[in-house]
Amino acid sequence: MLDHLSVASIPPLLGASRTQLANWVKQYQQPAYRAQQVHQWIYQKGVRSLSEITVFPKQWRTEIADIPIGRSQINHRSIARDGTVKYLLKLADGQVIETVGIPTQKRLTVCVSSQVGCPMACDFCATGKGQFLRNLACHEIVDQVLTVQEDFQQRVANVVFMGMGEPLLNQAQVLAAIRSLNQDVGIGQRSLTLSTVGIPGQIRQLAEQKLQITLAVSLHASNQLLRTQLVPSAQHYPLEKLLQDCQFYVAVTGRRITFEYIVLSGVNDQPEHAVELAHHLRGFQSHVNLIPYNPISEVDYERPTQKRLQEFLNCLKEQHITASIRRSRGLDRDAACGQLRATQIK
Ligand code: SAH
Repeated sequence: MLDHLSVASIPPLLGASRTQLANWVKQYQQPAYRAQQVHQWIYQKGVRSLSEITVFPKQWRTEIADIPIGRSQINHRSIARDGTVKYLLKLADGQVIETVGIPTQKRLTVCVSSQVGCPMACDFCATGKGQFLRNLACHEIVDQVLTVQEDFQQRVANVVFMGMGEPLLNQAQVLAAIRSLNQDVGIGQRSLTLSTVGIPGQIRQLAEQKLQITLAVSLHASNQLLRTQLVPSAQHYPLEKLLQDCQFYVAVTGRRITFEYIVLSGVNDQPEHAVELAHHLRGFQSHVNLIPYNPISEVDYERPTQKRLQEFLNCLKEQHITASIRRSRGLDRDAACGQLRATQIK
């Protein structure tokens, strides 16, 4: 059956739904229940090759052995003092991406990448200082979650699209991965968070999917001028328009939005910034997540002190804005937000 097809042209199975797997099985004239078996073995048991599926007849196993499942190789892993693990994963074409496993007392969160590199070039972000290479395919996103789950020997409770890349520049593959993480891996939609800096047109398109995922929008500034200094892509997406699209998202999905606000000491953390931000967000079904800047070597922003962060938080609360401070994880191993930058290890 495979004689005239090169193996490379066969798409990897990871990311395929039950229905797609049923069709795949059918072309080999195998009984329909094999679809359920392949589903269980790739998503639950996490096999890396179809030849490992021992419930399959031997002859068929040999026939399909070269069809890729789409799993990566762990190239490197580093463990931070707080238990956060940063992985460098090597993809089939040799590119390397970063994925982070973040354990809390009871739950395991995975921070996944959606692209190799990132074209958005945010001034404070390590990924943005490097080269953008390509979008990730659906299977390469799902694989990151399975890899962390297997390495920790613990079920993944939450997935956040806060690794390398801008997920809304790769919406089709990201949506396919969200479907698969939800329906195949079994993670609830409400436990999935997509973080975006905002791409014109894309937030509305995402809203139309009517998903129950959490949308996090990287706002970072209380006015358009400051925002364009920190996030160059904001030039093409005025703050007012971005906020209108966010309102649309809330109206269509009924889900509140998380606004991420990286706190850069002396840059965007003055009381007037809090007042200005509150003005934009008043009456908005949202939550502000303050992220203390995690230092990267390329720029000399300063991380705010705990006292300053708390003061900024208090200012927002005085303005009746719901907000909290995000605890940095994996800081000593460059595994914290914005510090991901894969070095190309072949
Ligand atoms: N491109 C998407 C997702 C990846 S970044 C986005 O921009 O939302 C995930 C989060 O980490 C974003 O809120 C981003 O602004 C933040 N981040 C980037 N660099 C950071 C740094 N050095 N310190 C703290 N947070 C950072």
